[in-house]
Amino acid sequence: MYIIDTHAHLDEIANLDDAVSRARRSGVIAIIGVGVDLKSNKRILEIADKYRGFVYPALGLHPGNLGDEEHREATFQQIELNLERAVAVGEIGLDYFYKETRKEGVTRQVQKQVFNRVLSLAKDSGKPALIHSRGSWQDCLDMALALKVERAVFHWYSGPMAVLDKIVASGYFISASPAAEYSLPHREAINKAPVDRLLLETDSPVAYKGVASEPAHVLRTLKAVVDLKNSTEEQVAIATTSSAKSLFGL
Ligand SMILES: [Zn+2]
Repeated sequence: MYIIDTHAHLDEIANLDDAVSRARRSGVIAIIGVGVDLKSNKRILEIADKYRGFVYPALGLHPGNLGDEEHREATFQQIELNLERAVAVGEIGLDYFYKETRKEGVTRQVQKQVFNRVLSLAKDSGKPALIHSRGSWQDCLDMALALKVERAVFHWYSGPMAVLDKIVASGYFISASPAAEYSLPHREAINKAPVDRLLLETDSPVAYKGVASEPAHVLRTLKAVVDLKNSTEEQVAIATTSSAKSLFGL
C-alpha cells in the first residue's frame, strides 16, 4: 500500500533524515514539501535536491509570512524563476483568522493582492495551487475561479459545505490532515467530498493534540479517512495516491 503526504513543511522538521526514513518505512512513496516564504522556499528546493525522487517541491508565499514589500517582490521572482522545478505553487492563500498579520499592516487587501499574483503564476504555469483558506474559503474559491485556475487543492479544508460543493464541482481537491481524527468541520468535509476529490497530508510539523507531526503520520490521516468513508485502507490509498500522482505529475 502506497501513500503520498501532499503537504509537509519539511524545512521546519527537526532530524529530517530520520523523519524521511520513518516515512519511507511507513509506505509513503512521495512527499510534497511546501514553502511559505523566501527562506523556506530556498530550503525546500535544497531538501528536494537531497531527497530527489521522494521529495517534490512546492513554492509559495503564505498569508502569514508576507513580510514587507521587498520580501514579497523577492519571493515572487524566486517562485517564477524556479517554477519549472516545482510541482505546485503553494502554500498560498488568505487567512481571515490572523490578528497578528493585521498588526503588521498586512490587511486583507494586501493578502488578496499577493494571493492573486501567486495564483496567476499557478494559472499560467498550469501547476496546481495549494491553497490555505482559513476563514476565507469563499474568497479563495472566487479568486481561483475568476482567474480560471484549472487545478487547486484546498488544504485541510474545514469550511462551509456550500463552498465545498463548488470546490468539487469546479474539479478542485481538498486535502485531509490528521485533524480528521477529531475536528468536526474537517470530518464533515471529508465525509462529504467524493474520495476521488481527496488527498492525504500531514501539514507537519503541526502538532495534533499536543504532539508534533511528521510525514509518516499521513497513515493516521489515511485511517481517519477510511473510518469516515466506511472504506478500506487499500481503496482510499489507491484513490488518493493516484489523484496525487496525476495532479502533481509524479
Ligand atoms: Zn501548511
